[in-house]
Amino acid sequence: MAYDYDLIAIGGGSGGIALVNRAASYGARCLIIEQDDVMGGTCVNRGCVPKKAMWYSADMAHAIRNAPAYGFDVPQAKFDWSTFVGKRQNYIGNINKFYINSFEKNGVDTAFGHARLIDKSTIDVNGKQYSAERIALAPGGTPTVPDIPGKELGITSDGFFELQSQPEKVLVLGAGYIAVELAGMLQALGTDVTLGVRTQKFLRGFEDILYENLAAAMQADGVTISTEFTAAKIEKLNGKLTVHGEAGQELEGFDEVIFAIGRTPATSDIGLKAAGVEVNSRGYIPVNKFQETNVAGIFALGDVTGQAELTPVAIAAGRRMADRIYDGQTDRHLSYENIATVVFSHPPIGTIGLTEAQAREQYGDEVNTYNTSFNPMYMAFTDHKVKTAMKLVVVGKEERVVGCHMIGLAVDEMLQGFAVAISMGATKRDLDDTVAIHPTSAEELVTMR
Ligand code: NDP
Repeated sequence: MAYDYDLIAIGGGSGGIALVNRAASYGARCLIIEQDDVMGGTCVNRGCVPKKAMWYSADMAHAIRNAPAYGFDVPQAKFDWSTFVGKRQNYIGNINKFYINSFEKNGVDTAFGHARLIDKSTIDVNGKQYSAERIALAPGGTPTVPDIPGKELGITSDGFFELQSQPEKVLVLGAGYIAVELAGMLQALGTDVTLGVRTQKFLRGFEDILYENLAAAMQADGVTISTEFTAAKIEKLNGKLTVHGEAGQELEGFDEVIFAIGRTPATSDIGLKAAGVEVNSRGYIPVNKFQETNVAGIFALGDVTGQAELTPVAIAAGRRMADRIYDGQTDRHLSYENIATVVFSHPPIGTIGLTEAQAREQYGDEVNTYNTSFNPMYMAFTDHKVKTAMKLVVVGKEERVVGCHMIGLAVDEMLQGFAVAISMGATKRDLDDTVAIHPTSAEELVTMR
């Protein structure tokens, strides 16, 4: 059968873009379909990129606050939200254009509109049909909104990035990456923030030292952490939002309530049934190591697969898939072990591999840990101290490093190099044998006892 394309990707986000550009570079005829007006998906338009830009602003706010400790006589400047948002959106616009140029350069066709599978090799986009030998599903997901009365009064991370003026008082509900990142940035920029978590702590599943140090730093910055708070109802009273908790608590006086309670895969309306593609009970599309779904010729990658929902993971999966199918690199696939990740909190968190608890489950008594906690030199001068904490998880007599967990200034940039070493099977001895760079915080990782 003659197809219109060799490969069509549904979703112009990180995964889809990486896949078609790499496939086209090998000569595959590709189409990418995006339902937004612009390419880039969540990461570029409503996620990592605008978030990191704001994180830099917040970081600068911390630096301005610390400047007098370094001898600067600087006024405590006020942040101009709308000026910054204008610059941020301009930057994003340039990335959107860059993607379109990259498609033109690589000979990838584009279509804009909502895509639905009609059968295993045909897609409908607003009444126009396209066929392909292979189809890759990379539609990403949307922020989850709790089903509670008054939910329409809240916003999600999507709405946060649309705010044109700075809210004075905000309640962030949730306990994961997005909740702590938004809470930290807003507080640093001058908003009064409450973080509402439904258990005793946030970032569950991460090493405890990360939660403990971040909670202390956030509270010292002025964030109110409201534990065991599950929102049951939101009301607007005199222009301000009041949120009632399930246990009868009341948090009030907010300009915005932000839901950051996870994301839902965008699989309910893309014609999966028509093509026979299975989803699991949470709506994710199961795939094997080659990103293959249960239907031959249909693949899935990125957040819809429910594995490590991170942009670089989607990109790596897409590129490897193209290498394997269109460049004969048999068995090329993404390993989901040892994926480094950073939470852009204040201070940031960097983590790779197993936590101590996970390692003990897998290796039992063979597990050992090395820990350190210190005031980085930067803080020697400042009144406001933010500690750095690090933990290495090692296994066996050779002490192979299977986990590295850090919180503190600059760990976000520190982790990538250590991730290379750990992915290559570095042992504690390898770290010890590496000459330290002094004076840095990173040197602690190669001098731990
Ligand atoms: P996460 O899945 O990270 O965290 C959401 C958390 O909210 C849950 O773990 C849960 O924690 C809590 N929660 C769930 N339901 C409710 C509820 N009904 N009420 C209150 N709390 C609830 O989701 P995010 O939205 O933060 O982020 C989505 C994904 O995006 C992340 O998993 C991450 O993969 C990715 N991301 C990555 C970033 C990065 O790389 N820096 C930045 C932002 C996002 P608990 O069970 O403990 O209550």
